[in-house]
Amino acid sequence: MIAIDQFRADYLTRFEDLYLPAKLPGGRVGGFRWMMEQGASHVDAHHVHIPVATGPGHSVLMTGCPPYRNGIVGNNWFVPATGKDLYCVQDDTSPQINSAEKQGISAKNLLVTTLGDELKLSTGGRSKVWGIAIKDRAGVLMAGHLADGVYWTDEDTGQWATSTAYRKDRTLHPVMDAINKEAVPAKYFGRTWDLSVPASALERLPIKTDAYASNPSKLGTKFPHKVDGGLDKIGPNFFKAFALTPWAIDYVLNSSLRIVKDQQLGQDAITDVLAINLSTNDYVGHAYGPYSPEVLDISVATDRAISNFLNSLFAQVPGGSSAVTVVITADHGVAPNLQSMKDLGFDAGVWSTSDLVKRIEARLDKEFGEDDWVLKYVSPYVWLNQKTIARHNLPRQKVEDAAAEAAMEAAGIYAAYTRTSILHGALPQTELARAVYRGFHPQVSGDIALISRAFFLGGSTALPAKGASHTEFFTYDTRVPILLAGFGVKRGVYTERAATIDIAPTLAYLAKVNQPSGSEGHILPSVSPRR
Ligand SMILES: [Zn+2]
Repeated sequence: MIAIDQFRADYLTRFEDLYLPAKLPGGRVGGFRWMMEQGASHVDAHHVHIPVATGPGHSVLMTGCPPYRNGIVGNNWFVPATGKDLYCVQDDTSPQINSAEKQGISAKNLLVTTLGDELKLSTGGRSKVWGIAIKDRAGVLMAGHLADGVYWTDEDTGQWATSTAYRKDRTLHPVMDAINKEAVPAKYFGRTWDLSVPASALERLPIKTDAYASNPSKLGTKFPHKVDGGLDKIGPNFFKAFALTPWAIDYVLNSSLRIVKDQQLGQDAITDVLAINLSTNDYVGHAYGPYSPEVLDISVATDRAISNFLNSLFAQVPGGSSAVTVVITADHGVAPNLQSMKDLGFDAGVWSTSDLVKRIEARLDKEFGEDDWVLKYVSPYVWLNQKTIARHNLPRQKVEDAAAEAAMEAAGIYAAYTRTSILHGALPQTELARAVYRGFHPQVSGDIALISRAFFLGGSTALPAKGASHTEFFTYDTRVPILLAGFGVKRGVYTERAATIDIAPTLAYLAKVNQPSGSEGHILPSVSPRR
């Protein structure tokens, strides 16, 4: 499984001419075009939940289960009992190993099994299950509870780290320790990331200026990008800058190949899982936006890197490409830079999350008396203060309705759906409402779900003139590739609507194991029937 972080389906077609041909000399395979032309391409594949963010996006890929039951309702959410936010893979009982970050990490908050978990259960633990990504949440949520190894990077050092959830003895696997000792990222200090395609390739981009680009970790707003984090010598800001370069993608994929070799993945008759996330694409997309030269170039670099990875993988695994099922997908897409859309004449912008909380608070004060009504907004939910509601002896629904009504009056808000109406099934019969249902976990989600209009997002008070973001149920956020190739895959282009929750039951079918516990996707039509 290769989940590319923030990779829209249109990147496959918009940049297709820049990608490697499907077949390369010497029997080698290309990248995306090999997957698209020699494998199965689901061209109408979407995430079907809200919010469309990294935690929820990865939580569905290997579980087949939307957040309404898998529990990953956001990257973070508020926990009224503690009065604090909880990060989606936070687990204070599982401290990190080889990371300066204090927060413990595990799959504890994922309330269902993954494909890897089911393989572990059905093979007496002999299946090997690995996850790797720059971002902890991506690897953890795909690999699951029983994985042999899940690794992510310490953002200040670029070193591979894990947690006691995966290594009780508080050491790293020797292979990861060895990679860390090579200090690969440091070799790129001071290098320049330059445009790898002819300048004419940029003619397709609708935006001809770097005015909407942010300057992440002092990489600059346009090519060429000097990768030093603005530092004289290697330090945390350099590693943050490194994470936005093509070399970071190579770092993740080359480390993955070392795991394949060291752990002997795919060497015997028992199916193994390797779940990889390429976090770099998301960092680049957030900083420069989907219509930037940087996103174009990093997509081209990703294609090359995937080609190299697949060729090495197929050379290592007996049976090569016919013995491996490869999936390429993404955890979400991204909206265009909102200021650029506004400048093009669209109604676009940001609604202020703090203003919205104030607006709701004011309405509830006015209607029910001055008190402390709102606890917190964490996208996409507002949490109301249940103690206040109880003290005023008010029906919960009445307060929710007033809060939702106030929210709906704010610019940029399309709808505000209340907990009670969601749990009672009282939302309109729309695809959007179904996505809200699929995102709402009764014990984890908040009280009012806020849904933006097209080209609007919740954010800090000013319109973020730079960069781009995602979370909403529009095609720019929901539509992602589902590409399959290799073992069990029927070559072809599939135009039927498909969902990212379809991937896990499809892989479970090919691996002949139980479906993950919360799986409710369909087996994709692109796999060959097998008993
Ligand atoms: Zn993401």
